[in-house]
Amino acid sequence: MGLALGPVCDYYLFNNKKVLLMAGWRSLILVLAIVFTAAPVAVAQTGVQARLAPEDSALTGSRDGVSLRLALSQPVPYRMRLLPAPPRVVLEFNTLDWQTMDWPETDGLRALRMGHRGDGWARLVLDLAYPMLPESLAQDVDPDSGRAVITLDMARATRDAFEARAVDESAFIRDYSDHLLHPESAALAEQSGPAPLRVMLDPGHGGVDPGAVRDEVSEAQIVLEFAKTLQEELLRRSGFEVSMTREEDAFVSLDGRLRAARAARADLFLSLHADALPEGLASGAVIYTLAEDASDETAELLATRHDRADLLAGVDLSRNTDEIASVLMSVAWQDTKLRNAELADALVDGIRDDGLRLHARPAQSGAFSVLRAPDMPSALLELGFMSSPRDLARLRDPAWRAQMATAVANGLEIWAARDRDRRAQLEQ
Ligand SMILES: [Zn+2]
Repeated sequence: MGLALGPVCDYYLFNNKKVLLMAGWRSLILVLAIVFTAAPVAVAQTGVQARLAPEDSALTGSRDGVSLRLALSQPVPYRMRLLPAPPRVVLEFNTLDWQTMDWPETDGLRALRMGHRGDGWARLVLDLAYPMLPESLAQDVDPDSGRAVITLDMARATRDAFEARAVDESAFIRDYSDHLLHPESAALAEQSGPAPLRVMLDPGHGGVDPGAVRDEVSEAQIVLEFAKTLQEELLRRSGFEVSMTREEDAFVSLDGRLRAARAARADLFLSLHADALPEGLASGAVIYTLAEDASDETAELLATRHDRADLLAGVDLSRNTDEIASVLMSVAWQDTKLRNAELADALVDGIRDDGLRLHARPAQSGAFSVLRAPDMPSALLELGFMSSPRDLARLRDPAWRAQMATAVANGLEIWAARDRDRRAQLEQ
């Protein structure tokens, strides 16, 4: 069964019937080919997993287009997204085991990455060398063997055409993906509406405290730019409300940042940094969560340095150490500690799945005053280190920041899904 993508219509497949879903959503092609009577979520839970057959799969490409053929042991729910800057195609498959697959180098692609999102979806990312748009996307099922083949044909397009589609895509996800992926919860959601996750983004430093400075660029500037990109990315998706502790180059005390999170009734606090450390100590992204003892000297150095900026600005921090101690003793902390660890893991997964550079020890801990809320999951993300020349080049690159924002947003989605599942289990 083939599926041609018309100019104004998208389809999705349900029980092998082609259904006209919605006119006007050209951007994202979301296709669920469900051969089980159960919903895809139930498929994931029963552990039914399709396997990729490398010998029957193929990838060819040129400057004019790319063709992909995935041979599978059984059909899977799948979906496709287009991401701009740099142009990428993201294909996701529910419960697919990649096994080992050596893809050939192909003109038309810069890179190809495979990974697992951690929530039952496997992901294939095609980094396009040129803007290309899908001409056809289909899953054909052999009725005798039950095996399936997914084919995707992409053709060269203008950058404008690609970006028009890639931008639209997010609106489609916002309006449709949750309903399609969790059909059994859609009825519930219609009654009460799913509560959005209120995220407080905290771009570190600012004003009198520039943070690290290299080549006349400050950490405060870089993390503010990143926070704005991440805010846009989250707002394009469903399920997030986003606030920021600062939206300009202004000093905000660590206490003020926490108060802002409280005032916004934030469900989650994410502090964003890109510090400098003595040469050679660190590169790649690290996620820190709160603990009395730092996981290593670097973490301790970062925690005390961030406090020092407050001291220099005349803020009294004498009670913070005591506060951290009492947070760690509190009853609420037991639950938050677990959720923090899961938040760090999910962010690591999101960044790793997108093939971005992580520190050798990506999840660490320290006595960061800004993370001392006892009942609000909090993490401090060092996007990279300005002291590493290669990290610095990436941090200054808007395309890299956009890619990192996508990865972090994916991580937050992964966390939100896992956290909801865990809470539902606790309630039973
Ligand atoms: Zn910093």
